[in-house]
Amino acid sequence: MVVKISIIKKHIMLKLDSKTPEGPLAEKWSKYKSTCKLVNPANKTKLDVIVVGTGVAGGPAAATLAELGYNVKCFCFQDTPRRAHSVAAQGGINAAKNYKHDGDSDYRLFYDMLKGGDFRSREADVYRCAEVSNNVIDQMTAAGLPFAREYGGGLTTRSFGGVQVSRTFYASGQTGQQCLLAGYTAMARQIFKGKITMYSRREMLELVLINGKARGIITRNLITGDIEKYSAHAVVLATGGYGTIYYLSTLAINSNASAQYLAFKKGAGWANPCFIQIHPSCIPQLNPYQGKLTLMSESLRNDGRVWVPKQKKDTRNPNDIPEEERDYYLERKYPSFGNLVPRDIGSRAAKEMCDAGYGVGKTGLAVYLDFSDAIKKFGQKVIADRYGNLFDLYEKMTGINSYEEPMRIYPAGHYTMGGLWVDYNMMTTIPGLFAIGECNFSVHGANRLGASSLLQGAADGYFVLPVTIGNYLADEIKTPRISTELPEFIEAEKNVREREEKFMSIQGKQTVTSFRKRLGSIMWDYCGIKRTEEGLKKALVLIEELKKEFLRDVKITGNLNEYNTEIIKTLRTEDAFEVAKLLCMDALNRRESCGAHFREEFQTPEGEAKRNDAEFKYVSVWEYQGEDKSPVLNKEDLKFDFVELKERNYK
Ligand SMILES: Cc1cc2nc3c(=O)[nH]c(=O)nc-3n(C[C@H](O)[C@H](O)[C@H](O)COP(=O)(O)OP(=O)(O)OC[C@H]3O[C@@H](n4cnc5c(N)ncnc54)[C@H](O)[C@@H]3O)c2cc1C
Repeated sequence: MVVKISIIKKHIMLKLDSKTPEGPLAEKWSKYKSTCKLVNPANKTKLDVIVVGTGVAGGPAAATLAELGYNVKCFCFQDTPRRAHSVAAQGGINAAKNYKHDGDSDYRLFYDMLKGGDFRSREADVYRCAEVSNNVIDQMTAAGLPFAREYGGGLTTRSFGGVQVSRTFYASGQTGQQCLLAGYTAMARQIFKGKITMYSRREMLELVLINGKARGIITRNLITGDIEKYSAHAVVLATGGYGTIYYLSTLAINSNASAQYLAFKKGAGWANPCFIQIHPSCIPQLNPYQGKLTLMSESLRNDGRVWVPKQKKDTRNPNDIPEEERDYYLERKYPSFGNLVPRDIGSRAAKEMCDAGYGVGKTGLAVYLDFSDAIKKFGQKVIADRYGNLFDLYEKMTGINSYEEPMRIYPAGHYTMGGLWVDYNMMTTIPGLFAIGECNFSVHGANRLGASSLLQGAADGYFVLPVTIGNYLADEIKTPRISTELPEFIEAEKNVREREEKFMSIQGKQTVTSFRKRLGSIMWDYCGIKRTEEGLKKALVLIEELKKEFLRDVKITGNLNEYNTEIIKTLRTEDAFEVAKLLCMDALNRRESCGAHFREEFQTPEGEAKRNDAEFKYVSVWEYQGEDKSPVLNKEDLKFDFVELKERNYK
C-alpha cells in the first residue's frame, strides 16, 4: 500500500506574521506593553473569554483575565481544575533571579533556552519568557507557594540539565502541584466572585468559528452525556501537550491532542509537530497492562550518577559491581555537563547503551541512577530532604529502596515542544483563537530544557496573554454577546452528534485501548528517540492501515447519554491517528537532526545531532486541507539578530 505524502507547497494560505516588535531584544516586551491597544475596565465587563484548560497555563490565565474584569468561562475534563496534568510536575520552575550569584541573568536564561532548543525558536518570544520569569516566582511566592528555602529564609534553587547555573526553584518533588494550587487559589477567588464560571468534567469536541473568528466551543458533559454550546468573544486553548501519542508516556493518561487537532482542522497552523521530548529518567515499563509511565525527575541527576556495567548483559546486583567495572557514560562523554546534559542527549545515550547490550534489569532496557556517592558525601537525611517523595514513589512502584540500591531508569515520551503556531500575541492563525502553555509551540524549539515548561505556562497565563489578548479584544468591544443559537453553533453541534453516532454504530470487536496501544508502539518504534526515512515511511503506512481497521472494528460499550469514557477515548483516538501522521510527515520533511529530533542519517562523526541551518532554519507549520488529504507545509523562517548560531556542544 502506498501512502500519499505531499509535502510540497500547493498554495500558501496561512499568513505567518510573527508580529515580533521592532527594537532591541530586551526592550521589545516593554515597548509592546506600552504601545498595545487596551480595553477600558467598563468594556472588559462586556467581553466573554473561554479558557479551555486549568493547568499551570490555563488556571492563571482564567484567574488573571477575570481579575482584569473579563467574564471567563473555564473548562476542563477533570472533576476539578486542581487535577490538571500540571499537578504531576516534580522538579521545579526556572527563573533568572540569580540568588546564587552564579552569573545568571535574563539574557543567560534566554540563551540557555534558545541553545537548548537547538536554535529552532524565535528570539523575541524566548527572551520575553526569560524576562518575566522573575515575576512568575514573585507572583507564586506571594500566593503562598511553599518554595524550598535557605536557612536564612530566602528561596533556594537547584540545577537542571543543559545549564551551568542554579536557577530552578522547587517545592520538594511536588512543584507542579504547588504551582497549580497557587493558580487555583487565584481562580477560586474569581469563581466565588462570579467572574469565572467553571465547567469541570467537560470535553471540548468542536471549535466554532463565525465569519472566520473563534467564537465558541461545543462540549460533552462527561457526567450526563449532554452536548453543550458555549460562546465568547475569544477562545484560549491551554490544553497541554500530546506526549501520549506513544500511549505509554509520563503524562496523565487523559492528556490528549484533540483540542489542538480540532483547532487545526478549523485552520490553525500546527508548528513543528515532530519536536517531541523523550525524558531520559523514567521508571521502565513494569508490565504490559500499564497505562502510563512514571517520571523520576531530572532534579535527581543533580546528585544521582548514571551508569551501566562495563560488561555486557551483566546480571550481578549493582552493589556487587566494583567501581572500576562501571561506565559513567554521561560523565565520560560529556565532561562539562556530565549527568546534567539536556534530555535529548541523555535519552539517546541511554538508548545507545541499551541497544549495545549494556542495559540492566530483566529486559535490558534500563540504566542505573545511583545515589551512593551523594549519600556518602551529604548523608541520607540531606538526600531525603531533597528528593524524599521521589524515593518513596520509586519504592512504591518497584519495591526497591534506592537509598540502598541504584534506581533503574529508561527514556519515555514526556513533552511536546511542537504545538499550535502562535504569533507574539499568542494568537493562532485563526483570529480570536489563542494558545498558551504546552499547547503552543512558542519557546522551546527542538528541545525543552528542564523546569522551563512550568515557567512558560505560568508566564503565558499570568503575564503575557492577559496583555496580548487585550490587543485583540479592543476591536471587539462593539460585538454584542454571541448567541449559541446561531447557525454556526447548530451546525457544529450536529457534526459532533453525527461523529459520535458514526462510532456507536460500528459495533466491532476490539477495544479502543487496544488500538491506542498499537498506535503508540508504531510511534515509539518509528518516530521515537531515533528516526529514519525508511522507518517514518513505514510508520505512515502502518498508521493508515491501523486507522482503517479501527474505523471498521472498534467497539464502544454503553450509550451516549451517560457517563461513557469509551466514546471520549474513541474520539481522541481518531484524532490521535491524524496527529501521529502529522508527526511522521514533519519528521520525514525535516532532513536534519536538531534537539530531540534525531534523524539517523544526519549525525556528526561522534554521533551527535547534525543541524542543517542552511535548509531547515524554519518553523514548519502544517495546514489542514480536508479529510483524506495530506496537510500542506508552510514555513516561518527564523531570524537570529541577536545571537550567533552555534553547534550545540555539551562536552
Ligand atoms: C511527570 C512530569 C513531570 C514534569 N515536571 C516538570 C517540572 O518539574 N518542571 C517543568 O517546568 N515542567 C515539568 N513537566 C512539564 C509540565 O508539567 C507540563 O508541560 C505543564 O504542566 C503543562 O501545563 P499546561 O497548563 O500547558 O497543560 P496541562 O497541565 O496538561 O493542562 C491541560 C488542561 O487542559 C484541559 N483539557 C485538555 N483537553 C481538553 C478538552 N478537549 N476539553 C476540555 N479540557 C481539556 C485539561 O482538563 C487540563 O485542565 C513535567 C511533566 C510531566 C509529565
